[in-house]
Amino acid sequence: MRWSLTLGSFKGTAVRIHITFLLLLAWIGFSAYRSGGAPAARDSVIFITLIFACVVLHEFGHILMARRFGIFSTEVTLLPIGGVANLDHMPEKPYQELLVALAGPAVNVVIAAALFIALGAFQPETLAQLDDPHLNVLARLAAANLFLALFNMIPAFPMDGGRVLRAALAMWLPRGKATRIAAFIGQGFAFALGFLGLFGNPILVFIAIFVYIAASGEAQMTVASEAARGLSVADAMETRIAAIAWGADLGEAVETLLATSQDQFPVVAADGRFMGLLDRSDIIEALKADDRSAPIAPHVQRDAPTVSAAAPLDETIEKFAGASAMGVLDADGVLVGLLTRQSIGEIMLIANLRPDWRLGRRG
Ligand SMILES: [Zn+2]
Repeated sequence: MRWSLTLGSFKGTAVRIHITFLLLLAWIGFSAYRSGGAPAARDSVIFITLIFACVVLHEFGHILMARRFGIFSTEVTLLPIGGVANLDHMPEKPYQELLVALAGPAVNVVIAAALFIALGAFQPETLAQLDDPHLNVLARLAAANLFLALFNMIPAFPMDGGRVLRAALAMWLPRGKATRIAAFIGQGFAFALGFLGLFGNPILVFIAIFVYIAASGEAQMTVASEAARGLSVADAMETRIAAIAWGADLGEAVETLLATSQDQFPVVAADGRFMGLLDRSDIIEALKADDRSAPIAPHVQRDAPTVSAAAPLDETIEKFAGASAMGVLDADGVLVGLLTRQSIGEIMLIANLRPDWRLGRRG
């Protein structure tokens, strides 16, 4: 995950911390300093470090449970809403996903229970005064663990609760449908949390915005990569496309533009090699500046992204992000198709509507 620092590693899993988590720590330390000076800031930082340790233990709850099912994790990233472990694949069976998702919050419940027992009192009301430095640090830590468990059980991706919900639904429904329903419920919860945050304290607003963004992004990504799993770029690419020759002039490019409804045109050399991409807007820009006999080559986007036809579609979608189109090449660099936002959208639609159709050529 970008914007993360590596802290160390345990049993082959690197522990990384996201910059937003550090911002949260800095904000809490600063608030304590303003209200109680250096001692309060020190106590707050110690307290936050203890919570941080509990979040790490939470993540290792997931990681060690996943390992029972043969799933390994190379890194875990800590975010303000908890942590994200990059499992090398998701559990196949719904009950496995359920156990892996529950193992994290279960660690926090165990820590909270152990601390409450050690304190000899159950004080969940401490939850409302987590930032009160006059309270016993262990009581606050117990309450914080209760909070971590409850917060992570919010049924919205990417929280554990979202995965628990999906896994529970997947026990009765096809996985794709379970994901869509869980994503829909999750977005609703994220929206409600965002709305409640407006009337709450600043930290709730901060969390709500983060959850809203993360939940809707993750929901879309989850739905997209679910549908794309097992498909290759070759399955999704457009093959009936008009290409423009590398040596063409502006007049020929305009004719191709008029003859098709394409918005992106691959530009190919005489031997079929992909030279770059022309957008509709590139041709229109060229029209303003050049005559019809001027070469089109200077207007071609030479750095246009390319992908192998055999590449897995789910990974390619992540890289596609800001691109308008990707040239699809065979092993010799010859253009075999074009991957566009529209062609990805179409295969997703079909894969979502008819998950029973075996569209993929892989596995
Ligand atoms: Zn978790």
